[in-house]
Amino acid sequence: MPEKLLPRDVKASRQERVVRVLWPDREDVLPFILLRAECQCAHCVNEWTGERILDPATIPADISIERMELVGNYAVRVYWSDGHQSGLYTWERLRVLVASS
Ligand SMILES: [Zn+2]
Repeated sequence: MPEKLLPRDVKASRQERVVRVLWPDREDVLPFILLRAECQCAHCVNEWTGERILDPATIPADISIERMELVGNYAVRVYWSDGHQSGLYTWERLRVLVASS
């Protein structure tokens, strides 16, 4: 991803239950529950078939984020309140999440 398209800020708002991604050209507001449902890790998606293993109905409605950690300059790792923390959200992925939801 070109440097000029990197997010300037990624913030979790626990009160609103959203993650705000500040891009150079726009701001995205991603509900926790959507982000959690879109986890691409091997526990949530079958690596070979791309089929979703995670049933979104099993995600707690009060899902929250304990903390987030930058991974290099290409992704963020989210530590969820349900103990799940194996998913990385790349900037590319975050860019398309709003459009696909
Ligand atoms: Zn996952």
